[in-house]
Amino acid sequence: MSRLFKASGILSFCFFLIPVFVFTQEENQNQDALFIKEIHREALSHGFGYEVLRHITQDVGHRLAGSEGAAAAVEYTKQVMQDEGLEVRLQECEVPRWVRGEPSEVRIVNSEQIGTKLLNSLALGNTISTPKTGLTAPIVEVTSLDEVDKLGSTLQGKIVFYNRPADVTQYRTFNAYGGAVDQRVFGASRAAKYGAIGVIVRSINPALDDIPHTGSCVYTDPTQQIPAIAISTNDAVLLSALNKRETIKINMISHGRMLTPTISYNVIGEIRGSEFPDEIILVGGHLDSWDVGEGAHDDGTGCAHAIDVLHILRKLNYQPKRTIRCVMFMNEENGLKGALAYQEASDANGEFHLAAIESDSGGFTPRGFSCDADSEVFAKYFQKMTQWNNLLEPYYISLEKGGSGADINPLKSQKGMLIGLRPDSQRYFDYHHTSTDTFDKVNRRELELGSAAMASLVFLIDKYGL
Ligand SMILES: [Zn+2]
Repeated sequence: MSRLFKASGILSFCFFLIPVFVFTQEENQNQDALFIKEIHREALSHGFGYEVLRHITQDVGHRLAGSEGAAAAVEYTKQVMQDEGLEVRLQECEVPRWVRGEPSEVRIVNSEQIGTKLLNSLALGNTISTPKTGLTAPIVEVTSLDEVDKLGSTLQGKIVFYNRPADVTQYRTFNAYGGAVDQRVFGASRAAKYGAIGVIVRSINPALDDIPHTGSCVYTDPTQQIPAIAISTNDAVLLSALNKRETIKINMISHGRMLTPTISYNVIGEIRGSEFPDEIILVGGHLDSWDVGEGAHDDGTGCAHAIDVLHILRKLNYQPKRTIRCVMFMNEENGLKGALAYQEASDANGEFHLAAIESDSGGFTPRGFSCDADSEVFAKYFQKMTQWNNLLEPYYISLEKGGSGADINPLKSQKGMLIGLRPDSQRYFDYHHTSTDTFDKVNRRELELGSAAMASLVFLIDKYGL
């Protein structure tokens, strides 16, 4: 056999192989596109996730960690997962137990221009109470924690009013939120350092309206705790305008208090993988919510999405190669104890999360996924994921680099891909942490499209790995 003949033999062999390979890849893409279409058909047809959401929000109601609502939500989602044929277990975690008590009050008491006026207020989560008759003092308006440091001891005996607005020019409202939230979380601790007796905080919401927003306040020094209450954005504008013309005194009353910690649970259900059971793909949301409204967009929709993903795949008789695990995390809002208990147990058991997807940005129309990992892992995994762009584009779903979710973030050290569902964010902060975050604010189709987007990505990661 001549050298030339051998070479041409290899060539013809290659020519024969390449078209077959291309055909197979095309064939796979077609099959995948069809399956993703089936996922959407299933998600949009049967209203399963919407019914789960209805129960968590309307029947159970709000679900702050340690509350009766939280316990009822644990029982209900455990039952739903069992009915879905998943292997289910509860994972214990010790959670803080804060109670709001009677509604808070913030009242302007001395304005020459308007007399006395009760403002729309809502105590911040974890806050301590005031004396029964409240605290009365002049306010000092600031727009940052640094400004508090500069004012220092002049704040002695005053009530600090944090009034930096969320930046309305940000396209992504989560960025506007991120740019203002330090006042709510650390404002009380910072002001207490200089002898302030209380703080009121402008609600973190780009819109101007009358609805106050709660959220966690963190006391960094347990010996220096002062009460903290949010007021609506409209009232913050009014208070600021009045205070520019005269020194305004307010009376603030809060009844919040921290009880002894209690035991609660993460709810975990899974289908074990047939080929690579040790590679876990997690889908999750957090089961707890604030103690006002029904915790619909935050985060009933995330819980409904996660359970719906498993339901959709089961209805389509999909047999996963990898372990698909659904997790309802407890206590995201005021402690993250569920997430930490989960990560500790997972690490101790030597588990590996190939991917974790959290939905905790509302139940609006999905726009894409935000992906996060160690830089080396990210480069490798993300490149693989972008090969699926043409399968996701028909549903307007894109993949980008960015943060994932508070509950899955501790899993980063396992060197898998962490992923956050990113729905349209324009209306999310109308409802976030308020009494108006209720079931009726969730559009059924938008919710279902979120489940379908997550199920599609889970399917692709399961089928091809990362
Ligand atoms: Zn949330």
